[in-house]
Amino acid sequence: MTTDRAAELRARLAAVQDRIARAATDVGRAADDVTLVVVTKFFPAADVRLLAGLGVTEVGENRHQEAEAKAAECADLGLRWHFIGGLQSNKAAAVAHYAGVVESVDRAALVPRLARGAADAGRVVDVLLQVSLDPPGRDHRAGADPAMLPALADEVARTPELRLRGLMAVAPLDDDPALAFARLAGIRADFLSRHPDATVLSAGMSGDLEAAITVGATHVRVGSAVLGSRPEVK
Ligand SMILES: *Cc1c(COP(=O)(O)O)cnc(C)c1O
Repeated sequence: MTTDRAAELRARLAAVQDRIARAATDVGRAADDVTLVVVTKFFPAADVRLLAGLGVTEVGENRHQEAEAKAAECADLGLRWHFIGGLQSNKAAAVAHYAGVVESVDRAALVPRLARGAADAGRVVDVLLQVSLDPPGRDHRAGADPAMLPALADEVARTPELRLRGLMAVAPLDDDPALAFARLAGIRADFLSRHPDATVLSAGMSGDLEAAITVGATHVRVGSAVLGSRPEVK
């Protein structure tokens, strides 16, 4: 069983790495300019362990309880955990104990809580600001309104326990990802003019990683293309 799963993960991972390399070279970028974060949500720690054996070093999770348990089970693997999900304020401090990167910071209320958790754990936590790509007027999915980014960025930048590394976004479900990511590129250019060292751009998932790499994504978050389809309900 385990070896079958290992073989399946090896093949799927290789196919995704190939897609990333091709998308990067198509736009004149080096393949290793794009970091793959494998999103392991809904899949067991045993899969994370197999992935680590295949060379994966960056993993993403979107629910605190599941992430915390998996990070503890896999503590010997030296992985870097990316928290990519909607973050409740009362969970933020706990997330800062195991997450190397919190990608989903979308409001100022999270900042002091993340800072407190990082301080308790004696570490500095990398932060990405999640920006909403929904057109104006739509009820926002997760993510800060682009107009709120400067203030949120300044808040993180002045917090010594956190390191502002860049932006994260998810293309809206009902929109052409190429158009959504083109908006993201504009938002990022503005952001970089104020925070030139915060160069990370986390965008692109199983279905749209090529479109994200085309507009400059430095990190893609890929779940189902590596692990298979997730169970509907957990
Ligand atoms: C689940 C998830 C992903 C991965 O999605 P796939 O389509 O399975 O690749 C990426 N980003 C976020 C924020 C997610 O919640």
